[in-house]
Amino acid sequence: MQETDLDRLAGVRDKIARAARDCGRKPEAVTLVCVSKTIAAERLGPLVSAGVADFGENRVQEAAGKWPALREGRALTLRLIGPLQTNKAREAVALFDVIETLDRPKLAVELAREIDRAGKAPQLFVQVNIGEEPQKAGVAPSQADAFIRSCRDDLNLPIAGLMCIPPADALASPFFALLAKIAKRNGISRLSMGMSADYELAIQLGATEVRVGSAIFGARG
Ligand SMILES: *Cc1c(COP(=O)(O)O)cnc(C)c1O
Repeated sequence: MQETDLDRLAGVRDKIARAARDCGRKPEAVTLVCVSKTIAAERLGPLVSAGVADFGENRVQEAAGKWPALREGRALTLRLIGPLQTNKAREAVALFDVIETLDRPKLAVELAREIDRAGKAPQLFVQVNIGEEPQKAGVAPSQADAFIRSCRDDLNLPIAGLMCIPPADALASPFFALLAKIAKRNGISRLSMGMSADYELAIQLGATEVRVGSAIFGARG
């Protein structure tokens, strides 16, 4: 019999619970963010029914097309996990409950302005370019403290967590550990780290949210 999204979801949930218990953490301390980018709305209803409450999307436009109908009447947490252009800040503040990709001063200024305007604030995560890769977004680890301080003190933006995407071709643990260290010294308790390939490792190193796509939906086309 062919494996369904719900079968794979159950497997991922089991592994999350086991990884958490193995390191003395409660399974409920780790939120599964189901990464639904490129996945059609019809495939997402069953996951919502199965109790998945957090979904991650990479693009404002795609999310705006898919989610307003799907989430109607349900308590879902919609998260932006892809890069945000400043000219989409208004739409992002209106649509998302969490924005995980606050990665530069200009975007911080724009988000502060739009949050003020809307009278509604998504939770914000600062994205750290943890492997200092030129092709990746995020503030450099050495700039993170100053950036977080400026968001908090100059713009009055509450920072709920940190997010990272470690280099694809290296062992992720030192990068996860570094993100945890930066969070700790800034009094930040939430860490969005770990994807399909390494979410169990991320949980060992303190992830409070793991972002899992292909382990649930299969490889994206
Ligand atoms: C696509 C994506 C994921 C999920 O990746 P998988 O390897 O499919 O689990 C997680 N985080 C971000 C930022 C992504 O863009």
